[in-house]
Amino acid sequence: MDVENKIIRKTEKVCERHAIIIGAGIGGLAAGALLARRGIPVTVFEARRYPGGCASDFTAGRYRFDSGATVGCGFHDGAPLHRLGCELGLVWPVRPEPLAWQYRHKSLHLDLLPGRENIIARFPRSKRFWEEQSKLARLLWQLSADGLPWPPSGVEDILGISSRVFRLFPRSAQLLPFLRRSAHDWLASHQLDTDPDFMRFIDAQLLISVQSTAPSANALYAAIALDLPVSGTWQVEGGIGTVARLLAGSIERDGGRVLYNRKVIALDTAGTRVQAVKTDDGEEFVADLVIANMTPEALDLLQGRAPLDERKTLFSRWSAFMLYLGIDAAVFDHAGANHLQLMASEGDPGEGRSLFVSASPADDLTRAPEGERAVTVSTHSRSGPWFEALQQGRGAYEVMKEKYTDSVLRLLCEQLSEAEGAIRSMMAATPCSWERWTGRHLGVVGGYPQTSLFNVRGPSTGYENLFLVGDSIFPGQSLPGVVTGARRCVELLLSQAGKYVR
Ligand SMILES: Cc1cc2nc3c(=O)[nH]c(=O)nc-3n(C[C@H](O)[C@H](O)[C@H](O)COP(=O)(O)OP(=O)(O)OC[C@H]3O[C@@H](n4cnc5c(N)ncnc54)[C@H](O)[C@@H]3O)c2cc1C
Repeated sequence: MDVENKIIRKTEKVCERHAIIIGAGIGGLAAGALLARRGIPVTVFEARRYPGGCASDFTAGRYRFDSGATVGCGFHDGAPLHRLGCELGLVWPVRPEPLAWQYRHKSLHLDLLPGRENIIARFPRSKRFWEEQSKLARLLWQLSADGLPWPPSGVEDILGISSRVFRLFPRSAQLLPFLRRSAHDWLASHQLDTDPDFMRFIDAQLLISVQSTAPSANALYAAIALDLPVSGTWQVEGGIGTVARLLAGSIERDGGRVLYNRKVIALDTAGTRVQAVKTDDGEEFVADLVIANMTPEALDLLQGRAPLDERKTLFSRWSAFMLYLGIDAAVFDHAGANHLQLMASEGDPGEGRSLFVSASPADDLTRAPEGERAVTVSTHSRSGPWFEALQQGRGAYEVMKEKYTDSVLRLLCEQLSEAEGAIRSMMAATPCSWERWTGRHLGVVGGYPQTSLFNVRGPSTGYENLFLVGDSIFPGQSLPGVVTGARRCVELLLSQAGKYVR
């Protein structure tokens, strides 16, 4: 330990800047890898013994499960993971999924494919909506190519955004009516709000990608989210955690370090600067700049401040309830998809009424015993009732977990009848597990609900050398989302580099 400490102090003396990253989630690792590539000494502290956070994988018995994220996205040419890989000299071991996922509600089965023909065939009135969605998404991709400096942190950012808007004018003017519009209002303008089956389908897509449904989701976020199957999705060899492992390897190759089982428990600050971080083994490490791969609430706690309005967080932000199952492979061969979105016949999505089911690829024998698949099932769940149950005692919490498990299994077997009798092993996890696994206060996962473009957070904090990355900052959740946020953070801090040299 002493030796490591000395290395950091020594490195600090010979180099201009030394970056400390708190957390080896995808956001922290992407920021660390980009800095290390530019020759800046980087040390990543990770509380767990493996990297990846919400996008990690873990071994349980003979299975290797993805813990949260299961769908690889953002790997196509020019997309955030592709750009990151090119810059770091990494070749991602990914291959395209034949279809993004299959949506099932009662007897309706829809494959989400790069084309919209099957959706339009089932919902013919939606044709003009999809044409508009596609036009908006293309424009937004063009506008945000190379990352969008949003929210602007100064005059330079405002000029940067204005020049992009001007370059794409008059097409960019088409975005104006959507800036403050909800997805629901947009759908209503196409008279689609009166079709409950179509609205349920859209709500299900929005919930998993923008963490809210049509009435509150912003229309432009929705346009991008609904484009996901068009850009393609990818299988990651060895599990989703491969992405994090490769990023950690890239940091080490470029001279940085990733230290596991090291939780940062306090920040040592003076005025508007962070001087050092303290870890749970009693060590203290000096830093010129610190990047926290944390939620703002967890960062508040780290600074000894109570997070604002805990009750609101508990009951308004999403977490997830999970089942990790070993299932006979034939179930998914028959379904014809590795990912399924299963909807209950009635009720709002979430809380066991919508499931996202992902099976390890049929030919990946490193993930499950022969003839089986390692399957992750998730449903959106509010943290509040879970933490309340835990407060009442272990018994109340276990009863709630059992109840949830039963209702999730019921919907799984209802919509995927082949699963009945084909489940070989099972484990459950709750928002309380997510808090323990990721250090995210109250287990909130999935990023902020994308309801407005104007109340989003950027990387800056109240401290001049402390920055945030991860899915709490714009553009929010998903692997490409947090990689884009990490790039923005790195560009911002490099542009202000003078501030960090003491
Ligand atoms: C159930 C679920 C399904 C999802 N599905 C998909 C999907 O299919 N595709 C997709 O692209 N995205 C998906 N996502 C979203 C995606 O996984 C996340 O948006 C993304 O991985 C979050 O990354 P992050 O950078 O915010 O870091 P996090 O994942 O939050 O990781 C933070 C890391 O920091 C560590 N840490 C925290 N505090 C400390 C501390 N004090 N000291 C040291 N270490 C600390 C934690 O241990 C953790 O490893 C899903 C998320 C969930 C929960």
